[in-house]
Amino acid sequence: MKNILDFFILEKESDFCNRRSIVIKFALIATIVLFSLFACINLLIQQYWAAIIDSISAVVSILSYIYMQKTGNILLSIRIVTFNIVVFFLVFAYISQATHFSLIWTIFVPIFAIISNGKKVGLYFSLLFYTLLFALSYHYINVWNAGEWHFVDWVRLVLASTILTLCMYIYEALLDAAQQDLQLARAKERQRSEELHQQSVTDQLTGLYNRRYYDNMIDKLSFLAKRQELCITFFILDIDYFKYYNDYYGHIKGDETLIQVANVLQEHIQRGDDFVFRLGGEEFAGIILSNEKEKTHQWISQLTTIIENLKIEHKASKISDFLTVSIGIATLEHLDGEKNIDLLYKYADKALYAAKYGGRNQSRIAQES
Ligand code: GH3
Ligand code: MG
Ligand code: MG
Repeated sequence: MKNILDFFILEKESDFCNRRSIVIKFALIATIVLFSLFACINLLIQQYWAAIIDSISAVVSILSYIYMQKTGNILLSIRIVTFNIVVFFLVFAYISQATHFSLIWTIFVPIFAIISNGKKVGLYFSLLFYTLLFALSYHYINVWNAGEWHFVDWVRLVLASTILTLCMYIYEALLDAAQQDLQLARAKERQRSEELHQQSVTDQLTGLYNRRYYDNMIDKLSFLAKRQELCITFFILDIDYFKYYNDYYGHIKGDETLIQVANVLQEHIQRGDDFVFRLGGEEFAGIILSNEKEKTHQWISQLTTIIENLKIEHKASKISDFLTVSIGIATLEHLDGEKNIDLLYKYADKALYAAKYGGRNQSRIAQES
């Protein structure tokens, strides 16, 4: 069953496109069969010009089917097939001469035209068809159906066809509106889930990426570094005596200072492939991919001076009048396997410990790396 459905589905962009592609593919095959059949019948009953029109329609349907299969352009095929159907039913009306309620079959024209072409173009096709059909059937009043085709029958045909076309138009318009609502809802849903994702990887206080994003990114970045043969440098930056700062200036002031430090980090480490994070508390981190190992180390080390030069008063600090930071830096040059990435964190943490132990307000580069 699924295979049969797949066969009829041309585009998978939306439900609407699916529905339309199923209709058009089905209709194309049906018109090929029908036109060929009627061409044969008309040939047999010696209605030669009708047979020629049916044959031309059959060929056009075959060609548009092949064209659609090759190019995937269903729009042009839809127009051609609809035009074919209009011509076919006009010929059919003319030949059947309204015998045995035969004109009832013309209801397929507005149904097919509007469903497959959309409400506007479908309405144009229906108008074209009915203008010609009404004129033709009006012309043969009291002639068709052995003289039994009367004016009242013609009025009935006009009224019923007009009401049906209007119903189809309204149905399609409602469907369009529902489709638009659905698309709008989907777009909102996508935006909301994007926002939620962004929130889930962002630190609320500073706006930097959080620890979760770091966990997500580190493997991807190490893969990138490996592929592009770049060194991967990781650093941890920790504010010195921040507990005392909080105790002395209060938690709110502490938060403001964390934001200030985060901003400095973001401004300083801002190349496209670089990332800075708030690991938690007063600990920040960054990843830089580069081939210039020494330059990168210098660049990161500058952060200690930059932050000290902010001259954020820190009377509770044991080493300075101003807020300072310590940094541990580690670089891996030749990445092979996940183990290296875990080591990177370990090395940077060790280097940070050394910076703290060595008097704080300084950066240290891991020796092992
Ligand atoms: P060291 O120089 O050894 O790093 O000492 P420290 O005081 O900075 O380190 P410690 O780990 O003892 O204290 C970290 C402090 O960071 C504890 C807490 O008061 C503060 N802190 C953690 N998260 C936040 C936060 O979100 N906002 C504020 N204002 N303070 C925080
Ligand atoms: Mg600290
Ligand atoms: Mg800390």
